[in-house]
Amino acid sequence: MWRSAAAVRALRGGGAGAPRAASGAAAAQLRQRLENELEDIRGAGTWKSERVIASRQGPHLRLAGGGGGIINFCANNYLGLSSHPEVIRAAVEALEKFGAGLSSVRFICGTQSIHKDLEEKIARFHQREDAILYASCFDANAGIFEALLTPEDAVLSDELNHASIIDGIRLCKANKYRYKHMDMQDLEAKLQEAQKHRLRLVATDGAFSMDGDIAPLREICQLAQKYDALVFIDECHATGFLGPNGRGTDELLGVMDKVTIINSTLGKALGGAAGGYTTGPKPLIDLLRQRSRPYLFSNSLPPAVVGCASKALDLLMESNAIAQSMAAKTQRFRSKMTAAGFTISGKDHPICPVMLGDARLASVMAEDMLNRGIYVIGFSYPVVPKGKARIRVQISAVHSDEDIDRCVDAFTEVGRKHGALR
Ligand code: PLP
Repeated sequence: MWRSAAAVRALRGGGAGAPRAASGAAAAQLRQRLENELEDIRGAGTWKSERVIASRQGPHLRLAGGGGGIINFCANNYLGLSSHPEVIRAAVEALEKFGAGLSSVRFICGTQSIHKDLEEKIARFHQREDAILYASCFDANAGIFEALLTPEDAVLSDELNHASIIDGIRLCKANKYRYKHMDMQDLEAKLQEAQKHRLRLVATDGAFSMDGDIAPLREICQLAQKYDALVFIDECHATGFLGPNGRGTDELLGVMDKVTIINSTLGKALGGAAGGYTTGPKPLIDLLRQRSRPYLFSNSLPPAVVGCASKALDLLMESNAIAQSMAAKTQRFRSKMTAAGFTISGKDHPICPVMLGDARLASVMAEDMLNRGIYVIGFSYPVVPKGKARIRVQISAVHSDEDIDRCVDAFTEVGRKHGALR
C-alpha cells in the first residue's frame, strides 16, 4: 500500500516495529527523487492500484473490506483450475510429502522426483522431447535467448511481444530485428535481411494478451521454412485451452511439428499457482540446464506449486471437456456483446477487449461495472496505444451462462449511461 510522506514520517516517530529510515544526504536525496517520480506517475494518470481479494481466486470473489458476490472477469484463470478441489488436494499432498521447499537451486540439491515427473508430463502434453521448469515464464523468457543465441545469430521479434520476451532478447548478444505486429510482409523483409546470420529465430506470443489476437502461426512457419529459421512461441495465453485438446496455438493452427520451442506458464490456466517452462528438443533443454541463468541461480519450484500444475495437466490430458466449455462461454460473451453494439477485439479468444477508445471512459465504466458487482479492468496508454483504451474481459470455463449474461447486461447499462452505446 502506498503511504503519503506525512504518514511515513508519523510512522517513523517511534515504537518497536516502526520502520527505520536511513539517514544521510544520499538517502534524503534518493527519497526526494523517488517521491518526485511517484508524483509524476500519479500526475500522468498511470498509477496502478491493487484491489485486495479476501477469498480464493475464482469466478466469484469477496474483496477485502466488505464487497462479496463480485463476479470476476479479470483473472487469467481460463479453466477455473486455480481453486479446483483436486488441484488444491494435490498441492496439500505434495506439501506434506515433499515439504515447503528445497532451499536450493536444482543442480545443487533442489531436484525432487516430482520436478522430473512434471517436466516429463509437460513434454508429453506438448508432444516435445523434453522440458525444463523455471520459477516463472518471465524467467523462462529471460533465460532462453542468452543461452541459445550468439552474436553470429539473429532473433526476429513481433513488436507487441510480452515484456519478458523483450527483456530476454535484450540480454542476448544476437542481432535483433523487430517486425510490425503480425505483419508477414515485414517479417519476410526482415528474414531476407537476416540471411547473413548463422541462425534465425522468429519469436512471437501465440496469443497477445492486450488484444486477444492470435499470431498467424501457419504463415510464420511457412516463412520460417522458406528462410531456414526456427520458431519460438510464448504460450502463456494459450496453453491448456486453445486447440481441440487445449495444447495451444500450434495445435489450433495445425503446426505442432513446425514450432521448435515453446515457453509457457503454470501461473495462468494450469492451476494458476506459479512457475514456467521451456519445452522443445532435448539438446536445447540439456543446454538450458547448463547455461540458463534464471534456472541455475534461483530456487527450485516449491512442491505445492508442482503438485498444482501436475494435477492440472492430468485433468487436461484426461478430457478436453473443460477447454471446450471455456470456448462455448467465450462464444456466448463475444456474440452477445457484439449484438449489443460493442466492438470486441480479437477472435475466438477468452481475452475479450471491449474497445472504447477514450481512457477516461474506460476508467469510469470499469468503476461503474464494479458498482454493479462486475470486476473488470480498464487499460489505457501507455499499456495500450493512445486512443485505443479498452476494458479487458477474460472469460473462464467456470463462469456460468448467468454470470456472462449479467456481465453483458451491466455493460449495456453502463455503456448507455456513459455514451459508449446509443
Ligand atoms: N509471457 C506472457 C505472454 C505473459 O502474459 C506473462 C504474464 O503475464 C508472462 C510471459 C510471464 O509469465 P509468469 O507470470 O509465469 O512469469
